[in-house]
Amino acid sequence: MSKTHLELVLTSAKRLGLKDVDDALAHACNMSQKKNAPFIRTLSGMLDQLVDEADARSQETLMRLARFPYRKTLDDFDFTFQKSITRNALDAVIDEDFLGRRENLILLGPPGVGKTHLAVSFGIHATMHRHKTLFINCSELIARLRESKERNTYLRKLTNFSRPTLLIIDEVGYAPLTSEDSSLFFDVICRRYEKGSVIITSNKSYKDWGEIFGGDPVIATAILDRLLHHSKSFVLKGASYRMKERKEEIKL
Ligand code: ADP
Ligand code: MG
Repeated sequence: MSKTHLELVLTSAKRLGLKDVDDALAHACNMSQKKNAPFIRTLSGMLDQLVDEADARSQETLMRLARFPYRKTLDDFDFTFQKSITRNALDAVIDEDFLGRRENLILLGPPGVGKTHLAVSFGIHATMHRHKTLFINCSELIARLRESKERNTYLRKLTNFSRPTLLIIDEVGYAPLTSEDSSLFFDVICRRYEKGSVIITSNKSYKDWGEIFGGDPVIATAILDRLLHHSKSFVLKGASYRMKERKEEIKL
């Protein structure tokens, strides 16, 4: 490729906003001349590398935007400690098309049994597959919605919560919601219904869900109705993993 052609290509790359491509082109041009290798092959290798770097950057951005409380995967989950669930059962539910089918997952159980860990690991898996994910604690979700009502930005906030492919709402039911708060929660679930997956973790069993939502059975039924349609649930049992770790620390 003549110098003039290279210059023309660089100008076009710059105008197209192809950041980093101009350096790669100039480098590929030099390398192919030096090594007497076909230019297109050298360029292809360099562009592959740029694409990999861009993918890694966008994955890290998605991971940051998801706001996970920690980064743990299914491989970090000890199924020999948590025996009420198996890796196969989880894999059967959360298959490759789980998000495509816009299904929901509900993880129930007492504190420390691994609900948040599992929710986070699915979130990380989704993020790695380029799905926009958002993790939020239920009380923070409600606080943000309340605040947006006061600022007259409620609809915009609702849109923020309906946009991610996967929304994880952690710790639903730790504190009961007022009936006003329950209707905010209902709006989020309604917006996402059949449009995007939701993962919920809760320490309350289904029979106690009425109490969570301000003692308002109409709202509770409406929320459950939408959540449970196209949903899978797991009830985790057993001792808290936190206590196991505490005991091991004390022994040391
Ligand atoms: P919760 O059920 O209260 O949401 P978490 O998922 O937050 O519990 O678990 C509490 C801590 O214990 C986390 O650090 C989590 O990674 C760890 N943990 C819980 N269960 C397991 C498990 N079976 N294997 C490995 N770590 C676990
Ligand atoms: Mg938790």
